[in-house]
Amino acid sequence: MNIHEYQAKELYKKYGIPIPKGIPAMNVDEAAKAAETLIAETGSEVVVVKAQIHAGGRGKAGGVKVVKGTAAAREAAQDIYGKTLVTHQTGPEGKVVQRLFVEQGVAIEKEFYLALAIDRETRTIAVMASPEGGVNIEEVAEEHPEKIFKAYIDLATGVMPYQIRHLAYGLGLDKKGTKSFGRMLRKLTDLFVKEDCSIAEINPLILTGEGEVMALDAKVNFDSNAHFRHAEMWDALEDKSEVAATESEAQAAGLSYIQLDGNIGCLVNGAGLAMSTMDTIQYYGGQPANFLDVGGGATQESVTTAFKIILRSDSVKGIFVNIFGGIMKCDIIANGVVAATKELGLKVPLVVRLAGTNVEKGKEILANSGLNITPADTMADGAQLIVKLAGGK
Ligand code: ADP
Ligand code: MG
Repeated sequence: MNIHEYQAKELYKKYGIPIPKGIPAMNVDEAAKAAETLIAETGSEVVVVKAQIHAGGRGKAGGVKVVKGTAAAREAAQDIYGKTLVTHQTGPEGKVVQRLFVEQGVAIEKEFYLALAIDRETRTIAVMASPEGGVNIEEVAEEHPEKIFKAYIDLATGVMPYQIRHLAYGLGLDKKGTKSFGRMLRKLTDLFVKEDCSIAEINPLILTGEGEVMALDAKVNFDSNAHFRHAEMWDALEDKSEVAATESEAQAAGLSYIQLDGNIGCLVNGAGLAMSTMDTIQYYGGQPANFLDVGGGATQESVTTAFKIILRSDSVKGIFVNIFGGIMKCDIIANGVVAATKELGLKVPLVVRLAGTNVEKGKEILANSGLNITPADTMADGAQLIVKLAGGK
């Protein structure tokens, strides 16, 4: 689960991680008021108006504006608010700016990159730091991998002094900077563990004129598996407008659904089978439109919801239902498919492969439904058929 920069910084502040003074704003008037307050508090005219969307790369897309004075801050807010920002992380459709964050302008001595992520292989927290901050880190990783310094934090020992020295050396920090960096890394690790994060990224991490480090940007991603431990706080932090409407509808129905950019809708049970179905479709030259695992305990209602979500999408040019009935029964799937098509109609080719529990019952329901269904015996057959019918290779 993703949150906004201003929310992440609120959390950073709670853990004592240095951040600039800032005030969130839900409209242009609030942004102007926030700028006025900040200018009065800091005695400096320089403020930064920042678009709050769940994506990075806002600076390059015109979503971060450094200005002087309240009037200029209002203008910047007017400019950004309501605008659709297209960055390298939003996808081509972009994201509409519905929230702003006004911050004090900070003098930047140097920009770095710092990120914490779970490393499943070593079962540690992987720390990545680079002196190439403020820019696209993916590019640095591609072109200058030697400029990314790493450390793996074992939860039994926590951050070790030698790890701080290694990373600080990589960043080119002096003695004071190293101390300040060490304090920050310990606090960020503490936050990462206690708040059940999957990612905490600071880009840029900066060196201030005083030789201390500070988080100028903040990204936090929570591990959804830990939702039960933080339900109240996370639900309050969630910005529903940032989650694709279909994904929240699927979540409410207990489905694991992720929208993708292909044109073949997939209805599958079991995450493993769903993954291999997507692979097989790709193998035969097609592109899946979604990942969808209806799970083992799906009811006819949730299967109907799942199939409706697929049917509603304009980009879907063909549907592949691939079910291996274990706990899930094939007749429940068949009933869900029929119920959803009754309501929304079926305008695209549908290939169905059913196997396992109640397979005969399921096939019978589909055969008697009057729907134009192409049956398939195996996953490979089904994938090939749907790729062809959907107009792929
Ligand atoms: P994004 O990563 O989405 O582009 P950032 O928060 O990293 O957004 O901001 C982009 C750039 O704007 C930063 O690299 C930094 O140079 C500048 N910037 C952001 N916040 C401030 C601030 N409070 N004071 C001064 N400069 C800032
Ligand atoms: Mg950034």
